[in-house]
Amino acid sequence: MNNILKLIDKLEREHSLSLAEYEFLLENRNEETTEYLRKKAENIRKSIYGNAVFIRGLIEISNICKNDCFYCGIRKSNTLCQRYRLTPDEILSCAENGYKLGFRTFVLQGGEDGFFTDKVLCDIVKKIKALFPDCAITLSMGERSEESYRLLKKAGADRYLLRHEAINEELYSRLHPEKMLLKTRINCLQTLKKLGFQTGCGFMVGAPFQNNRHIAEDLKFIEEFQPEMCGIGPFVPHKDTPFGEYPGGSAELTCFLLSIIRLIKPNILLPSTTALGTIHPEGRELGILSGANVVMPNLSPENARKKYALYNNKLNTGAENAFHITQLKNKIEKIGYEIVTDRGDIRKD
Ligand code: SAH
Repeated sequence: MNNILKLIDKLEREHSLSLAEYEFLLENRNEETTEYLRKKAENIRKSIYGNAVFIRGLIEISNICKNDCFYCGIRKSNTLCQRYRLTPDEILSCAENGYKLGFRTFVLQGGEDGFFTDKVLCDIVKKIKALFPDCAITLSMGERSEESYRLLKKAGADRYLLRHEAINEELYSRLHPEKMLLKTRINCLQTLKKLGFQTGCGFMVGAPFQNNRHIAEDLKFIEEFQPEMCGIGPFVPHKDTPFGEYPGGSAELTCFLLSIIRLIKPNILLPSTTALGTIHPEGRELGILSGANVVMPNLSPENARKKYALYNNKLNTGAENAFHITQLKNKIEKIGYEIVTDRGDIRKD
């Protein structure tokens, strides 16, 4: 048997490879090995989650951001971005709509907007939890203090998504302005885990300057950090950012990595992202077939959805729209999976 297939078997057995082995896998992948890996990822995912696909109702609560990440369409310096912020009542009504549609997890995501102080955000979390005690709340509101994360946990938030973006210092510093530090980001992730959040890290595939060595380092980090969730999607350029002219990441590599991550941590909650759906007409489905088990349709009001433009042509219609849940259900059923009405917590493996 060739070396790559042996490495894939080792990953399946040990859930771990060396940096050099991850890099070798990435460098030497081809159609045959990708399919071999994909089948293993699909089987292991099915052994834990069956054919269930968890849905999360994404509510993009604000595109106002104090940060200036070079890749991101809602970065502070993008003066062409039309800014908005949902009111607490608007956020609650998004959750209400979502509940009726069968969502049992709401993801509140936004830029780092000073309006959302601990008090404001905690009140929103408490209200959603009081109205829908059978629902989970995921926050994705960027870097905050330990005290803030503690208060949010106490208010009832269950999960927190904070992509680490790049574990390699040098790459991190090429993607972010000088005052944003990888150390701060990793500290936040460790704090979140310590406080008992189901914690999610992740990175963009094919970000400018990223090479296979960097990705191998990200995989090693995921292996060691053992996050409950991991968000990976292709980098997609946004025209009004410094990276507007860089090529985007590929669906092929994203799917390959989804399969690897599934083998690293068999019970991980792994979304098939909007970015993947944006760059490939069957992206969502391909992601699920590669080992993903979560999709996050959008519950934000229509005009907000258009303005939360992280990258060019971000999908916000069709199966991406939570109100078109039937369309999504059909797509998922066609590939042999099933959307479930469930909080979708991580299962023990
Ligand atoms: N402020 C929050 C939410 C950020 S947006 C936070 O800091 O976590 C969520 C994710 O979108 C980011 O973590 C980033 O990985 C991704 N993203 C941003 N710009 C992107 C782009 N141009 N292409 C693909 N993904 C992008």
